[in-house]
Amino acid sequence: MKTALVTGASRGIGREIAKVLAFNGYNLHLVCEKNVKMLQDLKEEIEKEVKVTIKNYAADVSNYEDLSKIFDGTDELDVVVNNAGISYVGLLTDMTPEEWQRIISVNLNSVFYTSKLAVPKMLKKHAGSIINISSVWGNVGASTEVAYSASKAGVNGLTRALAKELAPSNIAVNAIACGFIDTDMNAHLSSEEKEALKDFIPANRFGTPSDVAAAVMGVLRTTSYMTGQIITVDGAWI
Ligand code: NAD
Repeated sequence: MKTALVTGASRGIGREIAKVLAFNGYNLHLVCEKNVKMLQDLKEEIEKEVKVTIKNYAADVSNYEDLSKIFDGTDELDVVVNNAGISYVGLLTDMTPEEWQRIISVNLNSVFYTSKLAVPKMLKKHAGSIINISSVWGNVGASTEVAYSASKAGVNGLTRALAKELAPSNIAVNAIACGFIDTDMNAHLSSEEKEALKDFIPANRFGTPSDVAAAVMGVLRTTSYMTGQIITVDGAWI
């Protein structure tokens, strides 16, 4: 049986990725920032359906020491899904340096930290897959989301570079650049704003966490020869 670690698994995209991995037979290490109750509910929901081992942790992914403790307890590790992320919507001139740092720490530093902690374990097996949940804004940039766009562009750059570093060791590193996925991250938008936005999406619907989870499984079902890719899941939006 294989083992995967998923960050930001309490809700939204990460929760669905965790479920789909479990239904595909993966043992899980699930990380969320605070809401352990939601993770516990997820664990119970999964365990009613499938026989896998699930361990839950509360940790801030921007804190290297907290993450180190989690990785110390994971002997087996085949897959890391870096999904935890936060957004900030507002003009760059209104953003404080602290707010900028927080976005970069949670969205980008965390991917460095988990990769640094996971790779030695994967090297021992000469196998592994790191999947980073990124955004189309990392490819093209979004007005009023400069820090978020920069953090995800950083994730994309890290993905491409680390893939080159790890390809000789049979470890794949890929990113999934999501378009508009209907989760709480977009709860600040009114229904009118959401409807207007939908008109720009050729698929004529928002993405769902299941769309992203299916892409994660697609990456895992292929071979490590597919690496260094930024795979867009956006209904042909951007
Ligand atoms: P969400 O807000 O519903 O969930 C985010 C998850 O990340 C939660 O489980 C939360 O606990 C966790 N998290 C946040 N900060 C954390 C921290 N410091 N430490 C540990 N965990 C933390 O958002 P979502 O839509 O499910 O987003 C998941 C990922 O997908 C994010 O990286 C996001 O940037 C990316 N994404 C989302 C969309 C979208 O439209 N929803 C689009 C592009 C990319």
